[in-house]
Amino acid sequence: MMAHALGSMAPVSASIMPDASLRKTGLKVKRDAMEFNVQNRLSFDNKLWMPLPSVNLKRRQTPTQYQCKVVAMSVQQTAKNKVPVQPLELDNAKEPPLNLYKPKEPYTATIVSVERLVGSNAPGETCHIVIDHGGNVPYWEGQSYGVIPPVRVIFGTEIHETGENPKKPGNPNNVRLYSIASTRYGDSFDGKTASLCVRRAVYYDPETGKEDPSKKGVCSNFLCDSKPGDKIQLTGPSGKIMLLPEDNPNATHIMIATGTGIAPFRGYLRRMFMEDVTSSYKFGGLSWLFLGVANTDSLLYDDEFNNYLKNYPDNFRYDKALSREQKNKSGGKMYVQDKIEEYSDEIFKLLDEGAHIYFCGLKGMMPGIQDTLKRVAEQRGESWDAKLSQLKKNKQWHVEVY
Ligand code: FAD
Repeated sequence: MMAHALGSMAPVSASIMPDASLRKTGLKVKRDAMEFNVQNRLSFDNKLWMPLPSVNLKRRQTPTQYQCKVVAMSVQQTAKNKVPVQPLELDNAKEPPLNLYKPKEPYTATIVSVERLVGSNAPGETCHIVIDHGGNVPYWEGQSYGVIPPVRVIFGTEIHETGENPKKPGNPNNVRLYSIASTRYGDSFDGKTASLCVRRAVYYDPETGKEDPSKKGVCSNFLCDSKPGDKIQLTGPSGKIMLLPEDNPNATHIMIATGTGIAPFRGYLRRMFMEDVTSSYKFGGLSWLFLGVANTDSLLYDDEFNNYLKNYPDNFRYDKALSREQKNKSGGKMYVQDKIEEYSDEIFKLLDEGAHIYFCGLKGMMPGIQDTLKRVAEQRGESWDAKLSQLKKNKQWHVEVY
């Protein structure tokens, strides 16, 4: 099935550097998806397989849990020469696409690849999932897709996808939303794919402390266990809160992410630094990413971001809070709010100058961040409530937590 997953993709050429942030043990890379030539270029219309060179492999925690197949487009990194994208008409629309597919009539897309993003010492598993929508479910950076997980019924050795909600027989499964982690051109740069960054939801019995697979998350496990060629029911795209404001290409964007909350920001940053969309968006401002995860092995897309730092030091800042490895100034665990506090003078100044600030990740991140911002404001003799309502009024404040 994999051999057909990319069959419809148009040829694209792009400079490529391997991305160690995508962990690939036992990696196989489709050669029908790419070809390196002597100039280190790739094209997507070749029909062979090859291993990806120079990838920093980290051992996977549970190597048998899923098949790790990867296509090269998702390991693109930025280089000074930006990657050409097509069709550029995707930049022409004045309004973002919204709810093109609804739960009653979802779009059937195809999984292209599923890759584990984290190393063996990361608690839990997070996967990068590339989906081929054939250009039929266009989206803008910062939007989400809905996924309707199938219900698998096993009769003997046959698996039937009933698409039924186990809690409401006769009804399809509920839609789960996932922030899109690619730009509108996708990791394949041809507008035909979208990528998700999904954390596998597992359930630990509070009494025994043991994992209870009967209560594992339906959709995240479906996605992380899916194989290239598998079908997937999509709705959307949805969401306007996290759209990247592009009216001022020299604006400042402060992005605060925890875990999979990195997804929309990966899309923004690829648009700003990786893709050649300069005819419609020539980014010349400052992008400052704060990423909170448990430890170094849990970092997501780290190599991609380090590359922007190297190539665009005046336009990109990247600060990490590793809660299980770093200590804050009081000797406690280092969370994103501690990093915000560390740079609070600069952040407040940038906000006063009109910077956009975005928050994405688990709901639980917000109270600690709000407390910190309030405390910092008070120390500066400012009212946080007044400041927050001004930021909201100016459309500088963007929150998507779940
Ligand atoms: P569900 O089956 O819905 O279960 C939810 C939780 O309940 C799980 O942790 C499960 O273990 C637990 N559970 C199940 N049964 C029981 C039981 N009997 N008793 C107690 N607990 C139980 N997630 C991402 O990973 N990446 C993203 O980019 C992302 N973006 C999002 C964007 C938006 C706007 C929103 C709203 C959500 C986003 N999410 C994202 C979250 C995502 O939509 C799902 O909620 C998440 O993947 C869990 O769904 P699930 O079907 O796997 O779990």
